[in-house]
Amino acid sequence: MSKIDCNLIKDLLPLYIDDVVSDATKKLIEQHMLECEECKREFEFLQKDCVTLVDTDVISLKKIKKNILVKNTATAIFCVFLTILILVNGFIFFRDSIGVSLSNIEADARSSQKIDVNYDVVSDSTDTMSAMLFYGENEKNHTFSIYVNRPSLSFGYFYRSGGGAGNIELSVFRESYQGYDDYAILSMNQLQIAEMIVANDELSTTYKIDSTKPFAFVLPIDSGTVTFYDVDGNVVDLGYDFNSIF
Ligand SMILES: [Zn+2]
Repeated sequence: MSKIDCNLIKDLLPLYIDDVVSDATKKLIEQHMLECEECKREFEFLQKDCVTLVDTDVISLKKIKKNILVKNTATAIFCVFLTILILVNGFIFFRDSIGVSLSNIEADARSSQKIDVNYDVVSDSTDTMSAMLFYGENEKNHTFSIYVNRPSLSFGYFYRSGGGAGNIELSVFRESYQGYDDYAILSMNQLQIAEMIVANDELSTTYKIDSTKPFAFVLPIDSGTVTFYDVDGNVVDLGYDFNSIF
């Protein structure tokens, strides 16, 4: 076996291991290795090394692939989470900005405050406020509900306050809120008020009231001093100074 043959075989061995040599070369190498211990050892060494290398590469590749997968999955989960967060926030903002339309206020109050279906209602509304007084047949049981149209970026009316009030049953109740130009007047009208006159320096407005029925008004805060009269035209004593609260 000449040294040139061995060098040639050793040069060819990697190609042989990769199985990219012609059948004739393959035969030649195999024939040579049967007779040459040195080349055979070289072959075995290269083959082992090669396999180890390939295995390591495959494992690293798998690791890299796995890492990429983990990173992609984490990114995807984060994106989904972020999207949900944005949607939920948007929904909450949207929901908080959409109130009740004037035509739906009574139904909204009845359902949210669980008001007796047999209760009648008197109400009054302006662009900024809607006041409702629900009452039972004996005209003593009552629930009021006041909605406001917020001056902020929102649409419709929002529930502001409600329930029962002693002045509603026994006298005349008034409710105003800071930042709103209107206020509500509610009464079961036990005092049998027949007329309400609202007067300022320029204007005096008379409101006729059924003295046997509850009443509700929403008025501008600056509309003037309010005085209540009975059927005989006498001033009704409310038991407190209605006009002193402003
Ligand atoms: Zn050899």
